[in-house]
Amino acid sequence: MTFAATVLTLYPEAFPGPLGVSLIGKALAEKRWSLDTVQIRDFGDGPRRKVDDAPAGGGAGLVMRPDVAAAAIDSVPRNDRPLLFPSPRGKPFTQAMAREWSHGSGLVIFCGRFEGLDERVIEARQMIEVCVGDAVLMGGEVAAQLILEATVRLLPGVLGNELSATEESFEDGLLEHPQFTKPRVWEGRDTPEVLLSGDHAKVEAWRKAERRRITRARRPDLLGD
Ligand code: SAH
Repeated sequence: MTFAATVLTLYPEAFPGPLGVSLIGKALAEKRWSLDTVQIRDFGDGPRRKVDDAPAGGGAGLVMRPDVAAAAIDSVPRNDRPLLFPSPRGKPFTQAMAREWSHGSGLVIFCGRFEGLDERVIEARQMIEVCVGDAVLMGGEVAAQLILEATVRLLPGVLGNELSATEESFEDGLLEHPQFTKPRVWEGRDTPEVLLSGDHAKVEAWRKAERRRITRARRPDLLGD
């Protein structure tokens, strides 16, 4: 079964964007996963295909209409795929979510624009609100790309080296240890001696201690102690 992504957007030209390059783009070309876009405006109201309107209660900006959003959503065969709505009010996106969704049949993602989406369609279609960072974007497109990139790279056969997906930040609840490569000395800075020792157990112990040290310093919330 191929992982199928469908993105509903007012800007289909933003896709595949970064999802079309490197190993993810290669996997797309090899049909290890698929990506479709749906132009929300095709479901807009009247000859001008209006998709938004003034917020009830007044105030600045425009809100995406529930009837238009629902018509666009209902045009997509769901096939058990979760329906996501990237939103600053959502649950923070995590590696665990990417891992879970990578085991499923795909994702349907509705990209908001303007001030957001009428609350009733979020409820009626049981959209899962997901936040990709405590900062406000112009629209959901970059958020959708972020969610898809993190999820698709976990599909079997997408990353060349399967191990590299299990030994990195977040997978064991810790941030990654520092990485070094050649040259051994650069601008007077040495590569840590232990990494050149060839002693695998020592290297592992050093990396683990570094993961703990860095996580404690930068993201103590991840340690949960
Ligand atoms: N007025 C809204 C922000 C609207 S930004 C608020 O204050 O919550 C327009 C759209 O961009 C949103 O509907 C959402 O789809 C997307 N978006 C903006 N920031 C986001 C974030 N941090 N995470 C996920 N989606 C985001």
